[in-house]
Amino acid sequence: MPGRHFRKNRHLSKNRYLAPMSGVVLAGALAGSLAVAPMDGGSGNPDETRPVPAPVHRAEKAPAHRAEPEPEPSKPPADCKPSKAKEREYTNGRIPVDELCPLPQQGELLRADAAVAFYKLNAAYQERFGEEMQVNSSYRDRDKQAELYERMPAGMAAPPGTSNHGNGLALDLGDGVQNGDSPKFKWLEKNSEKYGWIHPDWAYSNPYEPWHWEFDAGQSD
Ligand SMILES: [Zn+2]
Repeated sequence: MPGRHFRKNRHLSKNRYLAPMSGVVLAGALAGSLAVAPMDGGSGNPDETRPVPAPVHRAEKAPAHRAEPEPEPSKPPADCKPSKAKEREYTNGRIPVDELCPLPQQGELLRADAAVAFYKLNAAYQERFGEEMQVNSSYRDRDKQAELYERMPAGMAAPPGTSNHGNGLALDLGDGVQNGDSPKFKWLEKNSEKYGWIHPDWAYSNPYEPWHWEFDAGQSD
């Protein structure tokens, strides 16, 4: 008896549930079709507003992601004219700044022929080590060389007017190159000459300056 009753109730409740459920489903379907209609009609608005912020986010993220694995090698500015560089003779440490070429390393300058050659060396270095060279010093005007000469221990900085930094033809490098046993120094020693750059003989011992590299202006072209 109770079992029968139970079954009956269950059956009843099942039937009762089916009716309202189908009603809900129908209502939902109707609501869905109703909701679709205005969206299709007015798709211009939501479709226009949604993609607008999305590309902004992508644009912000994309360069950071791309810059890390494959950085583009820097190129010399168009007005950097190596052919004219040798013709103009300036006193050591007195080269007008606008006659010099900026390096990719911010604030660093070299004579145009040395700069153009450096961009090539820098690109090869970047390809090998995955980053650009670290330049700690490039062109130095007379005042800067004089200041350095006073500050540095005797023999560690050339007297003003005599350094190749004053000719815009020398660089002091970091990032490991300052250590003569480092792979980066060894790589430069082996490869820099192809790009017109050398480690001068004196810098091996008198004084020992592994970081100091010079553009060999005597080279052809
Ligand atoms: Zn130097």
